[in-house]
Amino acid sequence: MRKKSQIESSFWEKEIETLPVQDLKRLQTQRLKQTVKIAEGVTFYKEKFSGVSIEPDKIKSVDSIRFLPFTTKEDMRALFPFGLLAVPLEDCVRVHASSGTTGSSVAVLHTEKDIDTWSNLVARCLYGVGVRRSDVFQNIAGYGLFTGGLGFHYGAQKLGALTIPASAGNSKRQVKLMVDFGTTVIHIMPSFALYLMRFFEEIGINPKKDIKLKTMFLGAEPHSEETRKRIEAFYGVDAYNSYGISEMNGPGVSFECHMKDGVHIWEDNYIVEVIDPDGDEPLPMGKTGELVYTTLTKEAMPLIRYRSGDLARFIPEPCACGRTHRRISRIQGRIDDMIIWKGVNIFPMQIESILMDIPEIEENYLVVLETDNYVDTMTVQVEVPEVYLEGEKSEGLRRRIINSLQSELLVKPDVQLMPAGTIPVSEMGKAKRVIDKRSL
Ligand code: AMP
Ligand code: ZN
Repeated sequence: MRKKSQIESSFWEKEIETLPVQDLKRLQTQRLKQTVKIAEGVTFYKEKFSGVSIEPDKIKSVDSIRFLPFTTKEDMRALFPFGLLAVPLEDCVRVHASSGTTGSSVAVLHTEKDIDTWSNLVARCLYGVGVRRSDVFQNIAGYGLFTGGLGFHYGAQKLGALTIPASAGNSKRQVKLMVDFGTTVIHIMPSFALYLMRFFEEIGINPKKDIKLKTMFLGAEPHSEETRKRIEAFYGVDAYNSYGISEMNGPGVSFECHMKDGVHIWEDNYIVEVIDPDGDEPLPMGKTGELVYTTLTKEAMPLIRYRSGDLARFIPEPCACGRTHRRISRIQGRIDDMIIWKGVNIFPMQIESILMDIPEIEENYLVVLETDNYVDTMTVQVEVPEVYLEGEKSEGLRRRIINSLQSELLVKPDVQLMPAGTIPVSEMGKAKRVIDKRSL
């Protein structure tokens, strides 16, 4: 039996991670003032600030943030590529881009100090769940403008782990790297982790016995608790949710501690608000809304009240791990991912939670929306083993899935059982879970 990771609470920077809440707020206020001052050097913000009554010196607490203007993705696109720069271009050493899931991408620039701060935050996340210098870290994420590659890479290197820049895709090569180098930790997108499960089975390698993997970071796309459980059971690992967004650097914005109950946001570097997605007002504690971010340590491109489009809620209770930085729930989805069908709002995550809890269903699925004879239809395609493809067993399973979906969604989609391996998957990018072919 191989040794499991030591996952008791451990801190990369104990003082700051456990800073009393009042001190953390004081630090945020001081950094917010600085950030607003820097942002005033950007024409866009200078103009925006002129319409509001708050001056940096008048910011008395983090709550004053409510008087500051929002920044949107459209603003970032309009000012692409350098319009939000607060330092001379020659002081920047790196550019990344958001993955453009919801339109053309936006550019995010970094000074050397920004890269160092970012790497340190990723190291904090890794160290917190037991990753050490002795670990072999395989980074299965695209190395390019996407932040999951270089972002995790620099963090793991800062921590001192042996870092394999494996990049995304190519299942055969990934497994070979794991075996050859004795990989103990990986960062991977949940959809690719699910996809690799079939590959491991095909080549007859049992990750629980044949490789040394003990820790996984699942990031860059929404995934349900049920998906995490499946991945942990198959690989015999502890899998942690890593949530980030390129506009705020990328990975390292927030991470799950060993309690596995929501992600801590690094509040010494970011102010996070939960805002009514249809308006401008903050929501009461614990209510789900849009996450809005303000950077507190960025030099090159500070962003004020950036509307992320991600939906989540604060978890009000303090975490048993001892960190004082607040936690948010799993991301429920992006505002633009929401399906409206038969007048009901549905998030793909709700569907995934149900499907991944039904053991007969394989890992891949697709929701297809179409218009048939003026009627909008929703079909959930799932892959199942051959024994469920025909006859009574098939119909029984299909009905069971429909009933489970109906009780969660309150509307009744159709379900199509498909042979394993027939729903297309992308080995490289974020998974596409919904195809909307409805006529407007
Ligand atoms: P990017 O454009 O590549 O920076 O992607 C950032 C977006 O990916 C976020 O705004 C989220 O919508 C999504 N995302 C990243 N990590 C996670 C995660 N762990 N859970 C859910 N969604 C995530
Ligand atoms: Zn915790």
